[in-house]
Amino acid sequence: MKIVHTIAEIREFVRQARLAGCTVGLVPTMGYLHEGHLELMRRARERCGIVVASVFVNPTQFGPNEDLARYPRDLERDARLAAEVGVDVIFNPPVEEMYPPGYCTYVDVERITENMCGASRPGHFRGVATVVTKLFNIVRPDAAFFGQKDAQQALVIRRMAADLNMDLEIVTVPTVREPDGLAMSSRNVYLDPEQRRAALVLAGSLDRAVEAVRAGERDVLQIRRLVEELIRAEPLARIDYVEIYSYPGLEPVERLQGQALLALAVKFGQTRLIDNVILEG
Ligand code: AMP
Repeated sequence: MKIVHTIAEIREFVRQARLAGCTVGLVPTMGYLHEGHLELMRRARERCGIVVASVFVNPTQFGPNEDLARYPRDLERDARLAAEVGVDVIFNPPVEEMYPPGYCTYVDVERITENMCGASRPGHFRGVATVVTKLFNIVRPDAAFFGQKDAQQALVIRRMAADLNMDLEIVTVPTVREPDGLAMSSRNVYLDPEQRRAALVLAGSLDRAVEAVRAGERDVLQIRRLVEELIRAEPLARIDYVEIYSYPGLEPVERLQGQALLALAVKFGQTRLIDNVILEG
């Protein structure tokens, strides 16, 4: 497996692969790989001739008081893990390669970025949409792979690709969890043992919501209240949001009909975790 740091090098690698008749899969990541990322890479491996994984902690998607500086990084370990699942090349550009002096172009997806993580992290999806557009233009993949763990992000990218006529397939991969249910995240390493235990309330409360819906509950406010109460009962947890929207349209809903996204963001100390589930109304 190769590691390249410049746009010219990754373009040349992809050009050669295309000449050899290969289709190209792209898995964008911020690194510090875990089983969730590896699952995206395996899916890409199954479907594409070559697999490009990007490892880039994208500064434009972090707010001024967020964890950009301390975001965990370990390229050597990432390279070992990516090679094991059959990634052909890692694209790991320095910040100046992606945002050289004078940079001033951004991609704004409207409406579906106004709630949930879009509301609690102003500018976040603008940074995501911008870097993903750049990666698509650099790599020109046939398919790109995203995790359902970041459900709103996956919808934003799907919308953007459709709206801007980007000629590729967007594949969404189910959330990979720890054996005890915690959604895998690079940020889980921030949690101390007490917070790690407390964080189980996320998957636990989503499960309870699914059970309530199975038992016939259709009132969105009641489902939100149930989840909020369960999380408030955990003293180490501080709710950022618990929200329910139609899925995939992300419109407000009062009663469940069809699919809805129940998504939450909760802080444990300085660490903000997200999780979600699709409710079947
Ligand atoms: P990140 O490095 O956190 O930006 O994530 C890179 C990609 O991996 C995104 O498409 C995420 O949605 C996806 N991802 C992160 N965690 C998980 C997980 N637990 N299960 C599935 N996909 C994930």
